[in-house]
Amino acid sequence: MQALHAQQLIIDQITPLYGAGEARAMARIILEDAFQIRPGGLANTTLDAAQIVHLQDIIHRILAGEPVQYVLEVAQFYGLNFEVSPAVLIPRQETEELVAWVLAFIKLKKMVAPTVLDIGLGSGCIGITLKSKRSDIQLWGLEKSPEALIIAQRNAERLLGKDQYQFLEQDVLDPTKWPQLPDFDIIVSNPPYIPHHELAHVSEEVHRFEPAMALFVENEDPLIFYREISALAWEKLKSGGSLFFECNTFSANAVLDLVAKTGFLQTELRKDLARVDRMVVGIKP
Ligand code: GLN
Repeated sequence: MQALHAQQLIIDQITPLYGAGEARAMARIILEDAFQIRPGGLANTTLDAAQIVHLQDIIHRILAGEPVQYVLEVAQFYGLNFEVSPAVLIPRQETEELVAWVLAFIKLKKMVAPTVLDIGLGSGCIGITLKSKRSDIQLWGLEKSPEALIIAQRNAERLLGKDQYQFLEQDVLDPTKWPQLPDFDIIVSNPPYIPHHELAHVSEEVHRFEPAMALFVENEDPLIFYREISALAWEKLKSGGSLFFECNTFSANAVLDLVAKTGFLQTELRKDLARVDRMVVGIKP
């Protein structure tokens, strides 16, 4: 089958579910990521019988509602390809903005070889992207899920190289493990923050396919990760070091308050490109 024909087939089948624009974008991603066919190669490439079977399986899973990134096991983030599986969240566009903020901050403060800790690695998208843009970063990461940690390590190894990172299997809610960490210039986290009672606001695909551990917290204490990570940051940040959080719009002001009450200065809340409150920073005095 001609690749051009395959492209049309994907678009025709996916359009009823996602609309023409999205279907076209997915066709490009599928052909590029699963078959290494770039738009320029569509006219002079063909798919063999095995590839057609593979394509049909991909389309079938997408029509069943599975996010295309899980089907293809890859997600684009900040221009990099991250391996993903249902053990990790699919990296979000909002998180790219957090990464951009941290990078701008490092530059503004003229930091040299900053030590950075990413808490709750998931795919590793935050820490790995930071280091891939600023190779002098000394990168550390914590992840409690062994399955997620394996994915983060594979991404780090592929995108940064061996010995370029220190990732530990660790639950940040266990303070007995904190003393083994060094001091940091920057701590960054996009922790779980959705209380179970907000399940109704979470889209079908997200809660059917993405890891609950990465998304949800108990109703009684939705800020538990922010509180514990702030406490850890208070202990482990150097003077002048900074704590960056991603949060959702419902908790943004509470997170800002919490960071300020912990003692951090120059706290700031920023919106994402959708003009939604999304990220918080605080500086350790
Ligand atoms: N740090 C990862 C991300 O931003 C995972 C976050 C999480 O699992 N809560 O995508």
